[in-house]
Amino acid sequence: MENCLFCKFVSKEFKTEIVFENDDFIIIKDIAPKAKNHYLAIPKKHFKLLADMTADDACLLGRILKTIPTLCNLLRLENGYRLVVNQGDDAGQTVPHLHVHILSGQKMEWNPA
Ligand code: 5GP
Ligand code: ZN
Repeated sequence: MENCLFCKFVSKEFKTEIVFENDDFIIIKDIAPKAKNHYLAIPKKHFKLLADMTADDACLLGRILKTIPTLCNLLRLENGYRLVVNQGDDAGQTVPHLHVHILSGQKMEWNPA
């Protein structure tokens, strides 16, 4: 997708520190952390909304969700963590490429990122 920041991170056109990568997705640190540890899991395939997903995309997202807890040490998830997927304007989605926020390292109020 042209002019998509996260597609440019995936393609490496824009440099950023990639903390994990497999065939399905990359994980980067959020530039403006909303918790002590704040990572973004970014599918390599571009789509904006859960509502846009095909059946294959749903399997892709399922694999991503299954992989995240296997990265417990790398992402420092040992005391618990929160996943957030902002969808659209009211939720404050600023990057129109679906991504999962991974927040950990502190007690969290019910105040989603
Ligand atoms: P959203 O608001 O769409 O749910 O989440 C987008 C996230 O991307 C925000 O938490 C924001 O801080 C992060 N972000 C925006 N630009 C950059 C960037 O250039 N690098 C990194 N690492 N994160 C970014
Ligand atoms: Zn994209």
